[in-house]
Amino acid sequence: ANSSAARPSAGPKSVAAFQRASALMPGGVNSPARAFGAVGGTPLFIERAEGPYLYDIDGNRYIDYIGSWGPMILGHAHPEVISAITEAAAKGTSYGAPTEAESRLAEQIIEAVPSIEKVRLVNSGTEATMSALRVARGATGRKKVIKFAGNYHGHVDSLLVAAGSAAATLGAPDSPGVTPGAAEDTLVLSYNDVPGLQNAFDQHGDDIAALILEPVVGNMGCVLPTMEFLNAARDLTSKHGSILIFDEVMTGFRVAYGGAQERFGVTPDMTTLGKIVGGGMPLGAYGGRAEIMNQVLPAGKVFQAGTLSGNPVAVAAGSATLRLLKENPPYEQLERLADRLADGLDRAATSAGMAHTVAKAGAMLTLFFNPEPVDCWDVADRCDREAFGRYFWGLINEGIYMPCSQFEALFFSQQHTEAMIDETIGAAEKVLKSL
Ligand code: PLP
Repeated sequence: ANSSAARPSAGPKSVAAFQRASALMPGGVNSPARAFGAVGGTPLFIERAEGPYLYDIDGNRYIDYIGSWGPMILGHAHPEVISAITEAAAKGTSYGAPTEAESRLAEQIIEAVPSIEKVRLVNSGTEATMSALRVARGATGRKKVIKFAGNYHGHVDSLLVAAGSAAATLGAPDSPGVTPGAAEDTLVLSYNDVPGLQNAFDQHGDDIAALILEPVVGNMGCVLPTMEFLNAARDLTSKHGSILIFDEVMTGFRVAYGGAQERFGVTPDMTTLGKIVGGGMPLGAYGGRAEIMNQVLPAGKVFQAGTLSGNPVAVAAGSATLRLLKENPPYEQLERLADRLADGLDRAATSAGMAHTVAKAGAMLTLFFNPEPVDCWDVADRCDREAFGRYFWGLINEGIYMPCSQFEALFFSQQHTEAMIDETIGAAEKVLKSL
């Protein structure tokens, strides 16, 4: 990578590209985390990606730990996914009429995800959560929604309250443009806080349409749920006739083929999907029990539509990805590599005398610059962001591309090898010692 640089930074071509982009797009990017606001400096502009690697326009190669923020579990440019995409594209890129391929992908999703009996395909994770909330409110005739601080569910107005991820990173959990009205029916609670949850249902139970949560959080760094918390969410929503929504946009097909609900054995009423389900193309999905999903137009009355929904090229990528994951499940291998990486980062941080904790679930993982076990946003918020920024750039200098924020889990793919994990640990050891 940029080994000759006195102080790590993006190469000259990325710097020039960012200048050009900044005049054209807000902050120079089309999604805020990409601008490196949390770590400082200029973002690396990418030329291409292959397997576990990203290549920037300055000719540097990096072991990639963002995987497009989750989708690329098979590695970049998997030959079978690429040929599925090109074959589909050659037959036309969008029809606005139904295809058999959509039913094939729906069958794959329904077979994989325990809670989903019927599914609707959309274009992003944001659309999935936005639509699921509308359906939950339509089905229950209630208004209020519970979400948890530090959980991110896309940029849905009513959920852009105490959201993690880029919102946390930018120190702007509430966005201008979200009206008080849009957020007033959202109750924000602390993750893993069972008494808090009990209390909210005691007070508002009959008004609560839905409870939405990330069943492993990726958007305040990787934070695990306690079983007590997941069971309480399941029991309280059942008891009060509220709809339990697992937002598995990150965890679906990652922490297990059937997502966190398979891993933990807790089945929600509805599930939202994105990222892996689209195989790196823009595609999301929401689904759940048939009686709930039958509320959606034209089976029912809850309106939700999309010009490009079920797009044949995106469906081909998603379908090929799920087929490959099912035929040759990488999950045990990913778990072993995650253990190896977690142990190695833990040892590296300990030998550097750095206060830290490591959390992981399958191929998602975070080294927190905070000695306390992170179980909710208040604890995550106490991480040393400044040290994280130096760690990030130190690793870039070693050819390792970590998420550019303390509050994003790292992801890796089935193309990552033990040797790459060990190289990463060695680089982290060197960088952490130099902090
Ligand atoms: N839900 C979760 C848990 C996510 O992590 C994300 C994105 O990071 C979303 C929803 C929104 O998905 P999208 O960015 O595809 O709109």
